[in-house]
Parts: sequence; structure tokens; C-alpha cells
Amino acid sequence: KAFSEANLRGIISENVTKSGYKVPTPIQKVSIPIISAGRDMMACAQTGSGKTAAFLLPILSYILEENIGMEIGKPLAVIMSPTRELAIQIYNEARKFSFTSYLKIAIVYGGTSVKHQNDSITKGCHVLIATPGRLLDFVNRTFITFTNTRFVVLDEADRMLDMGFADSMRQMMTHITMRPEHQTLMFSATFPEEIQRMAGEFLKDYVFVTI
Ligand code: AMP
Repeated sequence: KAFSEANLRGIISENVTKSGYKVPTPIQKVSIPIISAGRDMMACAQTGSGKTAAFLLPILSYILEENIGMEIGKPLAVIMSPTRELAIQIYNEARKFSFTSYLKIAIVYGGTSVKHQNDSITKGCHVLIATPGRLLDFVNRTFITFTNTRFVVLDEADRMLDMGFADSMRQMMTHITMRPEHQTLMFSATFPEEIQRMAGEFLKDYVFVTI
């Protein structure tokens, strides 16, 4: 099965080819159609499985397809990641896949100046990648609002749990669920009870995927 069957926007498809990806990995084969169909999803997938592209490709493709306008401080997609390193990896992949398109990708994480990172938000972004603490800080300062947010990704949810971010995840989902129209995707390497409980709380009518 090839990426061409995934119905991605031309520019995204070209960037996938330029990245040297020839065939989708199993998680990509399964998840891309589910996400493109608008379903919530809980996926058990390890680092190295290609999970980043599995959620980025359909999200970037959708935003281009729908040609949704961007407003300052109101990201269309928010990706929550446990660590700065992982956030940077996701950011780099998102930039690579959206290369030469008009899509703007921003990243915020703790441990650096708020001012510098706020600049990237005030310039506006379609996709925001963030670590939990800094994200909620920006939401509480009203630098970021989820009024336009269509996609929420909780990446490495089990790791966020282990790092003590359960409260941050719940707080963010409380902000998000005030909006009626959104699609939530959870990725986790393991599926302990607390993650199952969160999936039940955060996701509606979801598809469970395990690779
Ligand atoms: P991830 O699990 O998202 O961290 O991805 C692991 C690594 O696999 C990254 O270096 C990706 O660039 C690479 N990768 C992801 N999908 C594919 C693919 N379909 N073909 C080749 N490499 C891929």
C-alpha cells in the first residue's frame, strides 16, 4: 500500500516523497484513514513506529484542504508532548511536511523566555506544538485560546502521566471541550488503567488502534 492511497493534499504528498518515505508504516496505514474520516482515536504505538507522521499528515492535509483561515493566538491544531526534545522532533517533522505551503507551525516549551515564544504565537500559527506546563501558562495568560481548535493530539500520554502531567492534560481537555467541534487523538506506548480512564473521559466514540 502506498502513500498515494492516503488522499493527502498534493504539497504534503510531495514532501512525504521528498522525505524519502516510500511506504506507510503499519500505524500510518491504519491511522491516516481513521483520522481523515474525522474519528477520535486511541492508538497504542511506540516511538519509532512512525506515529508522528501518522497524525501530522492527515491534520496538515485537512487544514490545507479546508483552507481554514488563521487567527492570532488561535491554533487550529494543538499537539501536547511530554518533553521539549519530543516537541522539537514533532516541530521539525511538521515543518518538513508543510514545506513551501502557507502553513505556519509554532512551538512552545518551558525553560526559555516567555517573550520570545510569545512572539511566535502573536505572529499566528495553524499548528501549535507544546509541552504541558508552558501550554497551560499561555492559555491562562490568554496568549492562546482554543476557539478555533479542531484537532488535539496527546502524544506519549503514558509518559506525560509518569511525568506528573495528568492534571495538565485534564485542564487542557476542559478548555478544549468547551468547544463543540474537535477531534481528539491519543497516542501511548502502554495502556495502563489511568490511560484507559483518560481515553474514556477525553475521547468520544473513539477507534482503538494497537500495532
Ligand atoms: P516516530 O515514531 O514518529 O518518532 O518516527 C520514527 C522515525 O521513522 C523518524 O525518523 C521518521 O522520520 C521515520 N519514518 C516515519 N515514517 C516513515 C516511513 N513511512 N518511511 C520511512 N521512514 C519513516
